[in-house]
Amino acid sequence: MNKDEILLAQKEYLFPAVFHYFAEPLVISHAKNQYVWDVDGKQYLDFFGGIVTISVGHCNDHVDAAVREQSAKLQHVSTVLVNEPQVRLAKKIAEITPGNLRKSFFTNSGTEANETAILAARCYTGSNEVIALRYSYHGRSAMGMAMSGIGTWRLGGTAPPGFVFAHNAYCYRCPFGLTYPSCDVRCARDMEDLIKTTTSGRIAAFIGEPIQGVAGYITPPPEYFSIVEGIVKRHGGVFIADEVQTGWGRTGHKWFGIEQWGITPDIITSAKGFGNGAPIGLTVARPEIADALQGVTLSTFGGNPVATTAARAVIEFIEAENLRVNAAETGAYLRARMEELQAKHLLIGDVRGMGLMQAMELVRDRQTKEPATRETLAIMEAARERGLLVGKGGMAGNVLRCTPPLNIGRAEVDHFIDVIDECLTSAVGL
Ligand code: PMP
Repeated sequence: MNKDEILLAQKEYLFPAVFHYFAEPLVISHAKNQYVWDVDGKQYLDFFGGIVTISVGHCNDHVDAAVREQSAKLQHVSTVLVNEPQVRLAKKIAEITPGNLRKSFFTNSGTEANETAILAARCYTGSNEVIALRYSYHGRSAMGMAMSGIGTWRLGGTAPPGFVFAHNAYCYRCPFGLTYPSCDVRCARDMEDLIKTTTSGRIAAFIGEPIQGVAGYITPPPEYFSIVEGIVKRHGGVFIADEVQTGWGRTGHKWFGIEQWGITPDIITSAKGFGNGAPIGLTVARPEIADALQGVTLSTFGGNPVATTAARAVIEFIEAENLRVNAAETGAYLRARMEELQAKHLLIGDVRGMGLMQAMELVRDRQTKEPATRETLAIMEAARERGLLVGKGGMAGNVLRCTPPLNIGRAEVDHFIDVIDECLTSAVGL
């Protein structure tokens, strides 16, 4: 098919809600490591890493070889039969997760991973009530949307009961109009009042992303999660860290984002970078929580030998290449270079994130913080013209999100900065 035929078929045969970036849709043909190519042969540096999914580079040789070998041997048996790749991955996860997170349930996406976590927490506690965060994104199923705190992604009308939303730690736009640290982390302490006023007081769970991804890499201050954890535990809740974007070394040094706050969660969920593009979701829990999910359950494709082989190869590659350290070091370099851009361009209101998960929030005026939504789109288009892909996020679509593969180096960072510098200049006064 040529490009026009592909685009026509997309329009005719796919749901129109399948949303894509760019005024002229970008049709990708192939990819390798940090690059993707469109059907016209143009090369792009992928600074979004797919959609925060390419942790070790597109079509990574090590992962690819493992997948090829496995897919020639055994692709499917379902969870009703036992297979070695699934248990080997589960054992590896038990070794690298913090605390006593020992039992895994595998699915095919982050949405399903979070569904499983909430189900397990409800079975364990006997409560139905869940606290999520405003500005969160947890998935596209009915429950996934019900626990997401961004209106744009909540389709389909009334949400089922059982979810209430706490204030997030959005320091750049503090929900209480306060400034850190004199605020005494009021957003975290408010959780007590939220539980007392909007729940029965006995909750099933708190679910939160260590760094809120879709919301534009909103990064809480160091005390935030320990205050939240204390309140959640006092009310009987299970602490669920949604590590769909922050897992597998993305934030630097640690395997999981929540470890940066010194917290050992009761459940971790993940997907995206876990499989480097292979569809796989993970719910890993403390044994007593996993054991509370009584009765029988299955996932036809969950834990399939090919996806679990891919995920194990991803973990092996991150270990062998020391990529958690690279995420910290190259991430610090990226952050410093973004701050140089901020000093030069008034459009950049805030720079935030950790490791190789960094964002720039764009505003028309640093005083009023009016979101620069149009400019953000224009910058993405201009970057695309120059062979650079970058992500977008934020409540007003005014945040540039950068999550390149964990194995990039300073040369790619410098190229990214040069291109974005030019694009920022061209977007002024739009
Ligand atoms: N949780 C978070 C934090 C996410 O970013 C996403 C996807 N953007 C999901 C859950 C849902 O994952 P999936 O799209 O694989 O269902």
